[in-house]
Amino acid sequence: MKVLIIGANGQVGKHLVEKIQKTETIQAKAMIRKAEQAKYFEDLGAETVLVDLEGETKQIEDAAKDVDAVVFTAGSGPNTGPDKTMLIDLDAAIKSIKATINAGVERYIMVSSFDTTREEIQNAIKDAPAFAPYVVAKHYADDWLRKTNLKHTIVHPGMLTNDAGVGKVEAAHTTARAEIPREDVAEVILACLENESTINKEFQVVTGEKSVKEAITAL
Ligand code: NAP
Repeated sequence: MKVLIIGANGQVGKHLVEKIQKTETIQAKAMIRKAEQAKYFEDLGAETVLVDLEGETKQIEDAAKDVDAVVFTAGSGPNTGPDKTMLIDLDAAIKSIKATINAGVERYIMVSSFDTTREEIQNAIKDAPAFAPYVVAKHYADDWLRKTNLKHTIVHPGMLTNDAGVGKVEAAHTTARAEIPREDVAEVILACLENESTINKEFQVVTGEKSVKEAITAL
C-alpha cells in the first residue's frame, strides 16, 4: 500500500513517514512544500512530492493519483493568524478531500483536533476566542469528510507533546481531555492504515493503558 502523507514535514508527519518506512507492506509518499525538505524523506527511502497546499486542488489530485490512501496531518500551526487557519486547516483540508475523491483513492485519514463539536466552537468563542477559528476550521473539515463516500477515519488527538512515544493509549468516541506524544499519534495513524475496522470511525485518543494495536482494534 502506498500512502500520501499531507503535512509530512510536520512533527507528526515525520514520525509517521519514519514508522511507515519501517513496515514491510506500506510505503510513504511525503508531500512537502520546499525542495530542501526532501533529503530527510529520501534518507528514509520515501518518495516525495512538492505541493504548496495554498495551490490548486489539481496539484494535490496529481500527487494522489498513484496512492491507495491519503493522510492529512498538515496544519497552519500556532504561530500564524486566522488567515492561514482558513487557508490550511479549512480550505486545504477540504481541497485534499476533494482531490482524494478526484484521484479515485478510497481511503482517507484526517488528523483532526480533540473536540470539533458545535458545542466546542461555542466554548471557544466564550473562553478562548483566538482559538475559535481553528475549531471552526476543524469542525467543518471533519463535517465535509463525514459526508463523503470515502473510507475515512477521523483521529481526534489530545494535546500533542514532543515526549517520546510510550505506545500506550486510550482511544474511544469520548475520552477525558489529556496529552499524547506526537510519536504515539503517528503510531495510531499507522494502526488505522493497517486495520480496516477503523473505516468510517472517529475517536479521541490520549495517553492511556492499552497498546496502540489493542486500543485501535477494539474500536
Ligand atoms: P506541525 O508540526 O505544525 O506540521 C504542520 C505541517 O503542515 C508542516 O509540515 C507544514 O509545512 C505543513 N503546511 C502548513 N502550511 C502548508 C502549505 N501551505 N503547504 C504545504 N504544507 C503546509 O503540526 P503537528 O504538530 O505535527 O500537528 C499535526 C496535526 O495535528 C495538525 O493538523 C494539528 O492541527 C493537529 N492537532 C494539533 C494539536 C496540538 O496540541 N498542537 C492537537 C490536536 C491536533 P512546513 O514544514 O513546510 O512548515
